[in-house]
Amino acid sequence: MSRCLSDDALMRAHAELASAAERAHLAGCAACTGRSRHLRRDLDLITGVLRDSREPQPRPVSAPRRWLPAAVGLATAALALLVWVEVAVWRAVTPVPPTMQAQEVAAILADVSASLFSVSGDPAAAASQAAAPEDAPPSIEAMARELDSTLTGGEP
Ligand SMILES: [Zn+2]
Repeated sequence: MSRCLSDDALMRAHAELASAAERAHLAGCAACTGRSRHLRRDLDLITGVLRDSREPQPRPVSAPRRWLPAAVGLATAALALLVWVEVAVWRAVTPVPPTMQAQEVAAILADVSASLFSVSGDPAAAASQAAAPEDAPPSIEAMARELDSTLTGGEP
């Protein structure tokens, strides 16, 4: 008598995939026949459970968020408080700077303009030149001399 069948050979025999020698041993060995019967019973039980029981249902998402309305209300109240502090309290506490007079603004703007647009590097001369009417435009030679002195940094 040959060796008894392994569990894999018994599974093959159950699936009707066993060789002729395995089938012959199973027919003649009482121990392997008992193991095969036990295996068939287990497989029938597993098949019945898988066939008859229902699939597990996913749990519905419960736990309603009762804190959400309270959180929204609290956030709204905090925002309203922040706006009120910004509008009413902060403006009342912060001193407002005095407004500038129109003459001061004009003087500052004239200084800035003279500093930005002076050709000779002297803002006062540019300011007086800009303030004076252009009745005598500078000659080409004077402009060339001024440009030359500006570029060389000295007297021509
Ligand atoms: Zn056997």
